[in-house]
Amino acid sequence: MSKTGLERLQELKGDVFRCIHCKACRFAYSGQPSKKGIGEHKGKQKTVLYEGMVDSCPAGIEYGWEAFWNAGKIWIARSILTGDLEFSDQVRDVIMPCITCGMCSAQCENKVPTVDIIEALRAACVEAGIPMIDKHQLVDRLVKELNNPYGGKPEERFEWAKEAGLEKYINNKDAKIGYYVGCTASYRQKNIAAATCKIFEKLGMNFTLIPEEVCCGSPFFRVGAVDTAQDLMKKNLEAFKNLEKVFFSCAGCYRTFSLDYPKWMDDDELPFETMHAFELITQLIKDNKIKFKANKELKGKTVTYHDPCHTGRHFYVEFEQQIIEESNNLMFDIRKLNEKGHTWFDKPRTILRQLEKDVGIKFTEMYRIKENSMCCGAGGGVRAGYPDFSLRTASLRCDEANAVGADILTTECPFCWRNLSDANELYEHGMEVMGILEMIDKYDLLDVQEKPSEDYVVKLTRFPPEEKE
Ligand code: SF4
Ligand code: SF4
Repeated sequence: MSKTGLERLQELKGDVFRCIHCKACRFAYSGQPSKKGIGEHKGKQKTVLYEGMVDSCPAGIEYGWEAFWNAGKIWIARSILTGDLEFSDQVRDVIMPCITCGMCSAQCENKVPTVDIIEALRAACVEAGIPMIDKHQLVDRLVKELNNPYGGKPEERFEWAKEAGLEKYINNKDAKIGYYVGCTASYRQKNIAAATCKIFEKLGMNFTLIPEEVCCGSPFFRVGAVDTAQDLMKKNLEAFKNLEKVFFSCAGCYRTFSLDYPKWMDDDELPFETMHAFELITQLIKDNKIKFKANKELKGKTVTYHDPCHTGRHFYVEFEQQIIEESNNLMFDIRKLNEKGHTWFDKPRTILRQLEKDVGIKFTEMYRIKENSMCCGAGGGVRAGYPDFSLRTASLRCDEANAVGADILTTECPFCWRNLSDANELYEHGMEVMGILEMIDKYDLLDVQEKPSEDYVVKLTRFPPEEKE
């Protein structure tokens, strides 16, 4: 039986009422006060020093009014639950322009799962009969008709694989390992799909692309169209059910399969293991199975890394909620979360440090990183629904990369890639935006020392036993 948004909101009632409206979630502080960067949101000032707390919520920064910051939205959820407020077009217009970036969850010392609450609130709003904004209605129509929100033809989903000579992996029946490509990499950032497959091929992996793959449903879980999202989820679960491991190159798809599906499924365990491709590369480096080749073009280039919210902070917040649950209402051990968070956020950085050592890039961190990372502005239905707000947010993130002198801004999500790239061009930030795997493929950096066996890849886990969680 599918859950309704209102049921999800009622499940979260205790969390909603735990919000004390202290508004601490408005600010973020990353603990690197000596880094140069943008201070308060005063526009493109590239040499202002950060000092202590800075505004962190992109929606609050953009719109300014109390209701748009997270605390306002949690108060709206509370009022809906108590019956003091009814859903209306006005309520929708306040709760929709939010990137569901989760910066507020990460800042809240009261551990309120704000993104879960905002998403359930939006779903309940749609169920109450309030029409979605026009642009969200359009993508909802497109995905129902074509199984993707971009209007691409379903039969052209893997056209990029044919163009890149990777056709043999489509419907490769004897593979236990799958690659879920996602709509953005299939129809827009095809370079990322092709780069991921070519790396898998160089590693000698036997993997498959599943022709029945459809949109993961992420935008629809985020904007409250949960019926659409759950229909897509069911199709994907059916299509991928015979695989043992599924890899992703998109942060949003990875989060949706790994964190959303179990919450909305009847049986809360996926029939296969999920893993982002960067986790595989990280483990191969740690196990001395790969290195990188030196490259003259990249040598000396300053490279920084943008943590996608969906692979970074959203998993971190999930770990936090798990630790709280396991603590059985006894003391919440922050050291446990710090250790697990450190291991998690260090994974993409392991690749960048290896690239620094072998290739000669200069890896530099931005001011706001890891759980405090500033969002790229694309998620939560905001790029589709509120493109100006979305690009202005991406530009703030590009400012932060400019502030550390980045030549290349890397990330591990085609959707972040798109938004950061567009803002980079539109606001003339003058960098190059690139996926890490894309960089490895584009410059032919992979130096395979020992091809991993199928068994090795299938058995990889998010936190191998030798790693401290
Ligand atoms: S969500 Fe947390 S940090 Fe934000 S106002 Fe509520 S209690 Fe305070
Ligand atoms: S999820 Fe992000 S944009 Fe939405 S209220 Fe929280 S910090 Fe603001």
